[in-house]
Amino acid sequence: MNDCLFCRIISGEIPSKKVYEDEHTYAFEDINPQAPTHVLVVPKKHIRGLKEARGEDSELIGLCHLAAANIARQRSIEDGYRTVLNVGPRAGQSVFHLHVHLIGGRGLQWPPG
Ligand code: 5GP
Ligand code: ZN
Repeated sequence: MNDCLFCRIISGEIPSKKVYEDEHTYAFEDINPQAPTHVLVVPKKHIRGLKEARGEDSELIGLCHLAAANIARQRSIEDGYRTVLNVGPRAGQSVFHLHVHLIGGRGLQWPPG
């Protein structure tokens, strides 16, 4: 989608600090990191968000989480990290292309705000 920020990042039209890429997923550093590790993992397919996802998207959503787990392993932050999907504006979703936040490298509070 031409008007989607993350689709434009995936295509390379907008630069990003790439962390990982495969056939189905793309991971890059968040521009406004909230922790020492703050990586966004997105499916290459444009999916607006979790509530818009369909059954056929389940594997893509799983692959995004597994990519996040692999990045966490590579960065040696497996003592504590979080994968987060913000769903809807009231939960802080500001970009409407489904993305998994990988946040770690520091202690994390529970519950999140
Ligand atoms: P949301 O608030 O939708 O859950 O997460 C969107 C995330 O995208 C935010 O953490 C924000 O910092 C990040 N972000 C917004 N614009 C850009 C950008 O142009 N490049 C990168 N790398 N991250 C962005
Ligand atoms: Zn998109």
